[in-house]
Amino acid sequence: MAQHYVIVGAGECGARAAMALREEGFDGDVTLIGGETHLPYERPPLSKEGMLAEVFAAKTINTAERMAETGVVFRGGAEVSGIDRSTRTLVMGNGTALPYDKLLLATGAAPRRLPDVAGQHIAYLRTLEDAQRLRDVLGPGKRLAIVGGGFIGLELAASARARGAEVVLMEALPRLLSRAVPEAIAAQIQARHELAGVGLVFGDGLAGIEDGASGAIVRLKSGRMIEADLVLVGIGSVPNVGLASAAGLTVDNGIAVDRHLATDDADIFAAGDCCSFPLEIYGGRRVRLESWRNAQDQGALAAKNMLGAGATVGHVPWFWSDQYELTLQIAGLSDEGATTVRRELGDGAVILFHLSADGRLVAASGIGVGNMVAKDIRLAEMLIGRGARPEAGALEDAGVKLKALLAA
Ligand code: FAD
Repeated sequence: MAQHYVIVGAGECGARAAMALREEGFDGDVTLIGGETHLPYERPPLSKEGMLAEVFAAKTINTAERMAETGVVFRGGAEVSGIDRSTRTLVMGNGTALPYDKLLLATGAAPRRLPDVAGQHIAYLRTLEDAQRLRDVLGPGKRLAIVGGGFIGLELAASARARGAEVVLMEALPRLLSRAVPEAIAAQIQARHELAGVGLVFGDGLAGIEDGASGAIVRLKSGRMIEADLVLVGIGSVPNVGLASAAGLTVDNGIAVDRHLATDDADIFAAGDCCSFPLEIYGGRRVRLESWRNAQDQGALAAKNMLGAGATVGHVPWFWSDQYELTLQIAGLSDEGATTVRRELGDGAVILFHLSADGRLVAASGIGVGNMVAKDIRLAEMLIGRGARPEAGALEDAGVKLKALLAA
C-alpha cells in the first residue's frame, strides 16, 4: 500500500514541504492540510506591497493546478484537532480520522494577544483577512494606533502613512526593535518613521484600550490618551504548539526538534515558525525563527528527512524587512556578537558586522535604500556559515571586497 505523508499547516513551510516531497521523488500519497480556506499564500506582502496595491490580491505559493499536477491533495479550511500517535492517525475537526505514515507539523505561529483587552477596534495581522480589514480602514484622515515597535507594527506604520493615515506607535521599551536589531540600525529606522510623520511614544506602558464613540481609546500608564479608528497590536507571535503538546511531544519555545527536524516521535517532524531547533553554528543554541526563508528552507529539509536523508539544519538565519524605501537585512544572530564593526557603503547604507569574543563573524545587520546591502549581506552570510574570522579592519573598509575575504 502507498505510504501516506501528511503535512499539517499550509503556510510557507508546509506548502514548500509538499512540493519538496515530490521533487525528492516521493511517489506515495501527500496530503496538505490548511486551517485557512485559501490556497497557500505569502504573508510578507500583507504588511508591505499588499497594503499599497490598487487591488488587493493574495500572492499564492502553490497553485491548485500545480498541486493537482504533482498529486498533492490540498484540504483547505480543515482543522486538525488531535494526533493519535499510537495508531498514527489524525483526528480532524469534523470528527473524521486520517491515517499517516509520516507527519510534518508546520503549524506556524499566531499573534501574541493582549491579555484582558477586548474591543471592536482592535486588530492583529497574520492572515489575509486581517490584512483586508486593515486595508479597508486605513486611508486619508484615518487614525491608526499601533501597540509594539516590532517589525509588523513598523511595516504597517510605513504602509499606513503611504495610504494617508495618521499613525501613532507606542513602544513600552526605550527603543524600537530591541529584540533583534542593533541599536544603531534601529535609530536609523526610527529617524525615517519620524520623518514620515509617525508619532512615536516610548517607555509608556499600556493601561487599557476601550471602545469610544468613534473608534478606540488607548490609555497609557502615564495617563496619556490616544484616540484611533483602529488599534493594531503587534507584540510578537506565539508558536502554534497545541496539537504537539496534547500529543505528548516536547515543547520548548516551540515544538522541540533535533538537528534533523524530528520531534521525539521518529514519525513526526516539525518545521518553520512553530518549532525550536538547535543551531550548530552557534554551539547548538536552541532557537525559534520567525522568518520566511527559514520556513522555506526547513520545509524542504523536513521533506528530505521524512524520506530518510538525515540532513542537518545548517542554514544561517536570514531575515529582511521593508519600510518606506529602506530595506533591512540581517544574517546570523546579532546577539551572539561581542564587538561590532561598522562599514559605510555610501548614500546612508550601512552594515554592522558582529564578531564573537574570539573574532568569529557571527552576524551582519545592514540597512539601505532598495537592495543596496543585499549583495554584501549575502557574502557575509557565507562567511558566517564558514565560521570565518575576518580582520576587523578589512570589514570596516568598504574598499575591501567581502568576496576577497571569502576567497581567503
Ligand atoms: P504560517 O505561515 O503561520 O503557516 C502555518 C499555517 O498552519 C497557518 O495557515 C495555520 O492556519 C495552519 N495551522 C495551524 N494549526 C493548524 C491545525 N491544527 N490544522 C490545520 N492548519 C493549521 N518574514 C521575513 O523573513 N521577512 C518579512 O518581511 C516578513 N514579513 C511578514 C509580514 C507579515 C504580515 C507576517 C504575518 C509575517 C512576515 N514574515 C516575514 C514571517 C513569515 O511570513 C513567516 O515566518 C512564515 O510565514 C512562516 O511560515 P510557516 O509555514 O512556518 O507558518
